[in-house]
Amino acid sequence: VDLSPVRCFYHPGYEYPLPPEHPFPMDKFRVSHDRLIQSGVGVEVIPVEPIPTEDLLRVHEPGYIEAIRKGSLGTDELRCLGLPLRAGELWLRSCLEVAGTLAAVHAALEDGLSCNLAGGTHHAYPSAGMGYCVFNDVAVAIRSLHARQPGLRVLVVDTDAHQGNGTAFIFGEDPRVFTYSIHVGANYPSRKERSSWDVPLPRYVSGGEYLCSLEESLSQVLQEFPADLAIWIAGADCHINDRFGQMSLSNEEMRRRDQLVLGALRGINLPVAVLYGGGYNRTPGHTAQLHADTVVSAAEWC
Ligand SMILES: [Zn+2]
Repeated sequence: VDLSPVRCFYHPGYEYPLPPEHPFPMDKFRVSHDRLIQSGVGVEVIPVEPIPTEDLLRVHEPGYIEAIRKGSLGTDELRCLGLPLRAGELWLRSCLEVAGTLAAVHAALEDGLSCNLAGGTHHAYPSAGMGYCVFNDVAVAIRSLHARQPGLRVLVVDTDAHQGNGTAFIFGEDPRVFTYSIHVGANYPSRKERSSWDVPLPRYVSGGEYLCSLEESLSQVLQEFPADLAIWIAGADCHINDRFGQMSLSNEEMRRRDQLVLGALRGINLPVAVLYGGGYNRTPGHTAQLHADTVVSAAEWC
């Protein structure tokens, strides 16, 4: 039995204060971190440094990176992003979050499992942010890995309630990356991309139906694509009390979702980097608890 703690990457700067009426629960990063520590599970929390711009350039257009850094996005671009842009502050926050994901993929390859206590910003495109996602952390991490290990086969398992459109777009022509997304078909984003494997589900899908579809499709994906690494965007927005997810999973079904994904991936010894994804629960603190529960499940799996 391996009793070494799971490496989790985190920075207090993951939090980006938003007006109280904003639907994104920005305190979820701090609260989930605190609850994770309180759980007593074996984790080692490691601080991150902002990602160098040269890594962002592996995915993102220089003009877009500059606009985030200087705070010069246009009105339509800001509306699409859905976050207020305070120059310097959002830039730093986004660079920290991407760095956490890059650190987590390296740690997963070394240890078998690791977590970024944030990340999964799957709606971001190379030249535009979207749906609270500034930079595509998963894409930057994969491109950075490929710079040194060009043959690495990476499976992106996206169980966030929304389609991972940005990631699907970025890796649409890359046979080394398999993008799997299970989401509500008639929900945001209205224009979907083609993932390697999409599982569009009906609105307000029951937990039972969701878990059956997930189990069946994920096992098929694992047979079809021999991966060297999995990056799992967990997503807390599949919960029945979420404002945007349009799924109906109970707390217990969320736990079973986590166990199912971890069992499928770790059961074949696939290294896994775990990321948060979205979550907009109506009950304050619940999104943070669901993220913490996912990390606890992951740490207990080791
Ligand atoms: Zn989502």
